[in-house]
Amino acid sequence: LTSRIQTAMKNLSGKGKVSESDLDDTLRQIRLALLEADVNLQTARNFIRKVRQEALGSKVLEGLNPSEQVIKIVNEQLTEMMGQEAVPLNKSAKIPTVIMMAGLQGAGKTTTVAKLANRLKENEHARPLLIAADVYRPAAIEQLKTLGDQLQIEVFDKGTDIDPRQIVKDGLKKADQDKNDYVFIDTAGRLQIDQTLMQELKDLEQIAKPDEILLTVDAMTGQNATETADGFNKSLGITGVVLTKLDGDTRGGAALSIREVTGKPIKFVGEGEKVSDIDVFYPDRMASRILGMGDVLSLIERTQKDVDEKKAAEQLQKLQENTFDFNDFLEQLKQIQNMGPMEDILKMIPGMANNPALSQIQVGPKDFSHMEAIVYSMTPAERVDPDLINPSRRRRIAAGAGRPVVDVNRMIKQFKQMREMMHKFTSGKGSLPAGMEQM
Ligand code: GDP
Ligand code: MG
Repeated sequence: LTSRIQTAMKNLSGKGKVSESDLDDTLRQIRLALLEADVNLQTARNFIRKVRQEALGSKVLEGLNPSEQVIKIVNEQLTEMMGQEAVPLNKSAKIPTVIMMAGLQGAGKTTTVAKLANRLKENEHARPLLIAADVYRPAAIEQLKTLGDQLQIEVFDKGTDIDPRQIVKDGLKKADQDKNDYVFIDTAGRLQIDQTLMQELKDLEQIAKPDEILLTVDAMTGQNATETADGFNKSLGITGVVLTKLDGDTRGGAALSIREVTGKPIKFVGEGEKVSDIDVFYPDRMASRILGMGDVLSLIERTQKDVDEKKAAEQLQKLQENTFDFNDFLEQLKQIQNMGPMEDILKMIPGMANNPALSQIQVGPKDFSHMEAIVYSMTPAERVDPDLINPSRRRRIAAGAGRPVVDVNRMIKQFKQMREMMHKFTSGKGSLPAGMEQM
């Protein structure tokens, strides 16, 4: 996955300007990457459509560093689609806040109850009550009780021989008496969504009127996670999602699809079996994770720098040694072409915006190909030692390049100005100002 996006970005970053077909190539790669990250097909399509619109609308086709802009848009849109900000738990105006869990068997409901209750206990000195309403598996109740003991959090249980509806009623009564500030209802799951499970959850909802119905979804189930979330949301109406098992090797693309398909926020992520392995859901972090880059922008910078930095360093050294020649000039022109209009770049240098030399050094795309032709018409010796180029050589070069002699003269003048200017920057102030490194 990472290599896929890397390739896509390399293709883009080698070029100064992105055509629509370049953009579409890149977006195709990103779409594949999303699918590999378990984003479902429809979501991936919608996403790509948005990014494309955004990219075209934001004039990415003309701008500086087009690949950087595209990836920035990809990252921003991913973040935006996942809800921008972390969403906290719903809270009731009067205690207790009731949180009901939902989800398939093994998704991590019971573990998440313990994690969240512990978190509230630690952060808010809360006194939660955990209601054990999974009566179908004796082990499930034991599991919750064990966790409660460990964390010193009270668990309400009545064994397995009683209807979960009754357990919840009794548990809520007890919470009222004891003035617990939070109640977690740990419910049963099935291996698949079925009517009995849904009906039971609907009944429990009627009884408990929860402030939060938290759906727990196992991120490792990939594409199925989205279907599961969609199913629960349609039958039950959830208020938030906990995406568990993100400590596995999944990219977590389910986060994007779940959010898009249900419209409900992902509030927490489970990142391990330990009770402390829970965190608030951060859309921006998840965006980077889905793209598989740790930090997307740094990667794209690296991709570009791999190419440019070595050359820049060489050129810098040459400038310092005053051995900057036409080959370097050509190389530099190429890089500048890739960065956008040279004027804009020079203007980024402090004190440069009003420098009269600036108007002398404007280079358009056509100028560039002319200049290139002129340099190619020089002999190797002339290229490395521009001072060799006397009037008769200028005429020969002009003829070879199919340009008038004035063009050759102008370019040599520009070359010397550039060399002088660069030399000033490099010898005088030590390092180049930001934005100049690539020149
Ligand atoms: P439930 O059936 O929905 O209540 O699921 P459980 O809470 O019993 O969890 C099922 C299994 O998944 C247990 O072995 C948990 O330890 C494990 N589990 C839950 N959440 C996570 C998580 O975020 N990461 C990992 N690695 N395991 C988890
Ligand atoms: Mg359970």
